[in-house]
Amino acid sequence: MNLALQQGYGVVSKSGFTPGFDGVDGSLREFRVGSVKVTSTARQCVLRVSDRGGLRRRVGGKESGGVEGGRCSSSRPRSVTARASLLQGLGGSLKEGYVLKNHGIVDETTEVESTGDVIEKLKKGFKHFKDTQYNQKPDLYAKLAEGQEPKVMMITCADSRVCPTMLHGLEAGEAFIVRNVANLVPPCEGSGEHHGTSAAIEFAVTVLQVERIVVMGHSNCGGIKALMSRDTYSGDFVGSWIRIGLPAKKKTLSLFSGKPFQEQCTFCEQEAVNVSLANLLTFPFIEERVKTGKLHIYGMHYDFIEGQLTSWEIEREEVPIHA
Ligand SMILES: [Zn+2]
Repeated sequence: MNLALQQGYGVVSKSGFTPGFDGVDGSLREFRVGSVKVTSTARQCVLRVSDRGGLRRRVGGKESGGVEGGRCSSSRPRSVTARASLLQGLGGSLKEGYVLKNHGIVDETTEVESTGDVIEKLKKGFKHFKDTQYNQKPDLYAKLAEGQEPKVMMITCADSRVCPTMLHGLEAGEAFIVRNVANLVPPCEGSGEHHGTSAAIEFAVTVLQVERIVVMGHSNCGGIKALMSRDTYSGDFVGSWIRIGLPAKKKTLSLFSGKPFQEQCTFCEQEAVNVSLANLLTFPFIEERVKTGKLHIYGMHYDFIEGQLTSWEIEREEVPIHA
């Protein structure tokens, strides 16, 4: 399962065994982009601000509140006028014919309807989080308002069944997480394209200085199924992305050519993780830190059918010295 790794590295088996919001003032702003008829040449911007002003949070025994220009104002209560002027500037990059409809701010005091609508569910979920987490851990959220110092970066699939913060019992601030199709890491390349995953890796390693990177695959991965079943990988975004895993497909077909497709996919899900681990080592700032022991990289596979987690890690091989 480790042929994707470059010479000098081996796999060590260790078998054994997740919200976006304003972390400074602990509220959730919600917008919906709608299509409208624009009757004049000037873009219309409709923003109805709903704010009950004066809501404050208690941090370390002191009241604080108010966000102006994205910075926390420690002494003044939240200003409706300031927030309104902040919101008025949003949405300028929308194409003509679209405006923002502001739904206001959600916090623990907001009345949320029970319509069964998924957006209402998100708002209710946030209210629950505010009550049971944010308000209960003022020291943690005050510290997180100052900055983040996660020790681990996780790269997992965007699949809705794979939720790393929930699976691993992580608190806010503990893990820097990137989720993409089939949890793939591309090789280091400077093509100047939109390298979202590579940018996140660069930031996590060189700025946040995480000490561990975990790439976690999972059972029944649709991205891996597509990788295994497709003949061509051009013409759409998914195809050009999942082709990163082609070395894993090649390895799978060389070992499991006569086996059932499901079995092939299970193997490929894990070998694609190793392709990603190998690609991590193509980033010079990663290999340098791995060589000096400052960074360790791990593979995991979450099987949600059996309810199991398998893990392994990359270690440098001892190279024998020949006289
Ligand atoms: Zn997946």
